[in-house]
Amino acid sequence: MVKSLLLLSVLSFFATMLPVQAGGDPAAKADWKVGLAQIKITPERPVPMSGYGGRTKPFEKVAQDLYVKALVLEDRDGHRAVLVTSDLLGFPAAVAEPICQRIEKKIGLKREHILLNSSHTHAGPQLSLKATAKDGGEALRTVEYTRQLQDKVVEVVVQAAAKLEPARLSWGGGVVHFVMNRREFTPNGIILGVNPRGLADRTVPVLRIDGADGKPRAILFGAAVHGTTLGADNYQICGDYAGFAQAHVQERYPKAQVMFMLGCAGDANPYPRGTMELTRKHGTVLGEEVCRVLEGKFRPVRGPLRIAFDRAEVPLQATLSRAELEKIVADKRNAKAFAAKQLLALLDHGQKVPAHYSCPLTVWQFGSDLTLAGLSGEVVVDYVPMLEKALGPNQLWIAGYCNDVFGYLPSARVLAEGGYETRGLYSGSAGLFAPEAEAVVVRTIRELARKAGRKLPD
Ligand SMILES: [Zn+2]
Repeated sequence: MVKSLLLLSVLSFFATMLPVQAGGDPAAKADWKVGLAQIKITPERPVPMSGYGGRTKPFEKVAQDLYVKALVLEDRDGHRAVLVTSDLLGFPAAVAEPICQRIEKKIGLKREHILLNSSHTHAGPQLSLKATAKDGGEALRTVEYTRQLQDKVVEVVVQAAAKLEPARLSWGGGVVHFVMNRREFTPNGIILGVNPRGLADRTVPVLRIDGADGKPRAILFGAAVHGTTLGADNYQICGDYAGFAQAHVQERYPKAQVMFMLGCAGDANPYPRGTMELTRKHGTVLGEEVCRVLEGKFRPVRGPLRIAFDRAEVPLQATLSRAELEKIVADKRNAKAFAAKQLLALLDHGQKVPAHYSCPLTVWQFGSDLTLAGLSGEVVVDYVPMLEKALGPNQLWIAGYCNDVFGYLPSARVLAEGGYETRGLYSGSAGLFAPEAEAVVVRTIRELARKAGRKLPD
């Protein structure tokens, strides 16, 4: 074992010494095959917008087109996976799971090898499959839009999987400063505001996918901040800062597919915010940073690709009594009022308060070069240092808003302090997360990383 490890490390040492081949076909030695496709998902009929309560009408104008984009990866051993990014608020399980089933049926990609991410733009269409004729035209148009969107996500993955070409992967990173912790402490509790001393993940991870000619065929980058530069008074369809950032990079690299994947943005807002001008500005800043990073040094990302996926049974507060729930509902300002009302309705129907929510979690391990952890829900920033500790801080890309955006995924600290992110599930089920939730999520991700082959700290 020791000998073979030594041999491997000697080999990999010499591998790093090999000069980049001039001439010939560098792609002949490529570790990867990559397929790419994108489809426009801008709504064509007046549908309601998502993200803010209190909007009174459907969108009025399109400031920017929205897209779903697929990146299919295949390593030398034929292990395949797909990442889908989208200019949307988020995929709830009810919308995501039928998409995954159809993808598996069409091209054989299993659920665990599919990762759906959204930019969490608050200037996109609502998604819902629930409406009856009596809900009226807007609700029916939303259902129609959602069904078409599901077709397009399946289609974009099928298209990408049909044109795999040799590629090399590498990654680097930068930083942006408009990412602001939004949990503002006031004498009356925590409000959605501005907390410059609060933790925020300002990193900008960038994955570069080069074709046989050494030029980028795809650029995937991330940030960890809500798509909320535009406020509730905005009625223009737009990808928010992430949309403008993708457009900025696209202009510089017109032949590449430019994709955005959101990080642990649960308690981060852009700063400042509120206008289309600021949205463009943040997008330009992020896009420019990605371009700057692309001109610098990148580390190779080699195979094999190993994926571990699980649904963690994340603990909810299961012992809440009717009296406690009624007290929460009576306080209109309580962030938990919506969930408490739903839980009361369950009790009214003779059901129990659910004890767990099943959260999909995934880890993609790229050889020994990079680990991508994909968490579901609106993940608060505390999970970044927790996962850095559990997995080791290097060669780590942490994404939130993957696969099922069911509500906020708070930490024990956030739950103890209170505030908006404690509001519980808003999709898929009813419930309020328990303080033990974070330990279950972190333990599961660590276990998945071990299974996928990441070298873990003790
Ligand atoms: Zn949110």
